[in-house]
Amino acid sequence: MKNERALVIFSGGQDSTTCLFWALKQFASVEAVTFDYNQRHRLEIDVAKDIAKTLGVKHHVLDMSLLNQLAPNALTRNDIEVKEGEKGELPSTFVPGRNLLFISFAAVLANQIKAKHIVTGVCETDFSGYPDCRDIFIKSLNVTLNLAMDESFVIHTPLMWLNKAETWKLADELGAFDFVREKTLTCYNGIIADGCGDCPACKLRKAGLEQYLNSRERGD
Ligand SMILES: [Zn+2]
Repeated sequence: MKNERALVIFSGGQDSTTCLFWALKQFASVEAVTFDYNQRHRLEIDVAKDIAKTLGVKHHVLDMSLLNQLAPNALTRNDIEVKEGEKGELPSTFVPGRNLLFISFAAVLANQIKAKHIVTGVCETDFSGYPDCRDIFIKSLNVTLNLAMDESFVIHTPLMWLNKAETWKLADELGAFDFVREKTLTCYNGIIADGCGDCPACKLRKAGLEQYLNSRERGD
């Protein structure tokens, strides 16, 4: 795969930045795409731009503001609170079909830039009710896109079966642990690196980080 091109779906967060490092190891040429859907924090786009620039990766930003028109929710609207879903309920950050749309638009771009590989950080392990994060969905979409566009795309999901601690481990193995810890934005309150520590995204990230650091100390 060394002589082929990959397009990474990239938000500037921990997961997709780890995927970007993964892709840079796997492919001769890597480009990144970020979707601008009027994120609650405009900073996300700037963080993604900075990281791509630092890593020397060509960066595409696609306007997806129509998403907010279709599904106003806590990620895009300041007047809706971010909260964890009740048991069996989707969290307030849910945009129905978001990955379906993002990956489909990424495929159109991949076709234009002649990238055979599409890399996304979706993950079934932390499956919090997002049906389009499931492995079966990604495989289904891969077939659909290839039929729709007469292409032979390969969608890669390096994080699909990893928990948050294992994602930190992967970043470490890629030599990117400090970079991911210091440069990425996961926090819903828009604070880079370790974040505010209180929002659901920070809690998840922190728990995974502590779990990984503990296991690293024990030499697991
Ligand atoms: Zn936070």
